Amino acid sequence: MILMISNSFRRGAVALGIAVLTITTGCSAPAGDDDSATSIVVGAYPFEFVATRVAGDHATVTNLLAPGSDGHDLELSPQQVAAVSNADLVLYQSGYQAALDEAVEQQSPANVLDTASFLTLRTAAEDDDHDADDADDDHEADEHGGYDPHVWLDPTNVAEIADHTAQLLSQLQPENADAFTANAQQLRSELTSLDADFASGLANCRTNTFITSHTAFGYLAARYGLDQVGISGLSPEEEPSPARIAQVQQIATERDVTTIFYETAVSPKVSQAIASDLGLATDVLDPIETLSSDSRGSDYIEVMNSNLDSLRKANGCQ
Ligand SMILES: [Zn+2]
Repeated sequence: MILMISNSFRRGAVALGIAVLTITTGCSAPAGDDDSATSIVVGAYPFEFVATRVAGDHATVTNLLAPGSDGHDLELSPQQVAAVSNADLVLYQSGYQAALDEAVEQQSPANVLDTASFLTLRTAAEDDDHDADDADDDHEADEHGGYDPHVWLDPTNVAEIADHTAQLLSQLQPENADAFTANAQQLRSELTSLDADFASGLANCRTNTFITSHTAFGYLAARYGLDQVGISGLSPEEEPSPARIAQVQQIATERDVTTIFYETAVSPKVSQAIASDLGLATDVLDPIETLSSDSRGSDYIEVMNSNLDSLRKANGCQ
């Protein structure tokens, strides 16, 4: 398995298919070491994006999260737990998906790269605009052990994840180390450009406040000097209280907010109802936990650019 050849991707994919078939028919024999490709397992799209970009054809990447579903509520089938168990590498953010945390702990895959081990995490309490809210500060804290897991919404974090992924893959496949390093560097240059576009695009705006149903954008807000205001607490689909709606209305008026943001993976009905009550527009701000046919772009960088366009329009940026 360590002796990789660059065109082994296709054979690896076939081998993986056989392994999965074996598992589904009830045979408990472990996947053999003759897999011709390194298998990387992830639980959400941003990690799939990084793994695919860095590994190129030298690995197969399996994303456990179905497109368009809620990343936080990931549930794993027995086959998916087996995929974690058999993975050469699991790339993930601990504290984000309880099911994956548990599978990693119990299955002990060969290699684990937990992005929480090298990124600077924000606490959930830092994420919401301070004077905007009390009710929903505890949401992410309850779910995620006090840290905001949405690290990928700061592009510089994605570049860090790419570098660490390249380092780990280089240990697994030393013969392809140069390719992994080059791929990570190429990705870093694209992310640096994206970061610069965000910084300049959001530098001169009528307002720096944005209102969103899902408070996933703490890292983005911190990076680019924005104030994130969350509408509802426990779940993006939960009806906010009348008191909360009144608070949001006051903030929107005081800070010249034009738009209530919602995300593609969750029903927009709460955001739309509030926007309608307040006479505001709605638009999509995508936390990019999944990529689907509803996404405004075909990869992380394109969807982030769509997010930038939406923020610039909503906030009156020049
Ligand atoms: Zn989220």
